[in-house]
Amino acid sequence: MDAGQDTIAARVRLVMDEIRRAAERAGRTPETVRLVAASKTVPVERLREAVDAGIRHLGENRLQEALPKIDQLGRDGVVWHFIGTLQRRKVKSVVGRFETIHSVDSLALAEEIDRQAKAAGLRQRVLLEVNLGGELSKGGFAPSALGDLLPALDELAHLDVRGLMAIPPPTMTAEDARPYFRQLRELAQALTGHGCRNINMQELSMGMSHDYPVAVEEGATYVRVGTALFGARGE
Ligand SMILES: *Cc1c(COP(=O)(O)O)cnc(C)c1O
Repeated sequence: MDAGQDTIAARVRLVMDEIRRAAERAGRTPETVRLVAASKTVPVERLREAVDAGIRHLGENRLQEALPKIDQLGRDGVVWHFIGTLQRRKVKSVVGRFETIHSVDSLALAEEIDRQAKAAGLRQRVLLEVNLGGELSKGGFAPSALGDLLPALDELAHLDVRGLMAIPPPTMTAEDARPYFRQLRELAQALTGHGCRNINMQELSMGMSHDYPVAVEEGATYVRVGTALFGARGE
């Protein structure tokens, strides 16, 4: 890319265009897909550039990093998401500070979020993270376990479950990730309509820099994109 063109604003436009095209290919309304800029390790000045270019959703992984960024950028026109692994002892500081926690990966964590949300007098929006590949290195509910856990999750009145999230195993091509995205969509459908009061399955948080167009074709309502917006993190 021409150095002059390779700005955050240009990348934001590019990713938004890709999302629009993928949604149209699938006969979906592009506005039903929200682009969450995965902003771990990205300094606040660069986040400001992204927000100026039209980013409305920011997703952070680590509480210690996120809190100063939230203080500096504020919440005006910016919706903050928590997308990283969440330890139970940090739940108290996360509840109420992030619109949606995408990474609820166990019943014990869900119960702690419920407890802290109750204490804070609010309902916390969350997504349930699913371990589609059965990877031992990753957290998340086993797809086959979720059905049996729904009644217990539905008891948690201060938890507002909106859907599912997944980080599929790494694949060679974006197309190779399609079966995982489809599986998440079908799982959400299978979990819908069991008489739950506090659970709905409208949201699907799936797709990252290398495969978000495929995720959108398969029904993603949130894509979490870092590298394609901010460049490599050098991790
Ligand atoms: C970093 C991260 C992303 C974005 O990954 P990229 O490949 O940089 O787009 C998405 N989701 C989660 C949970 C992440 O930690």
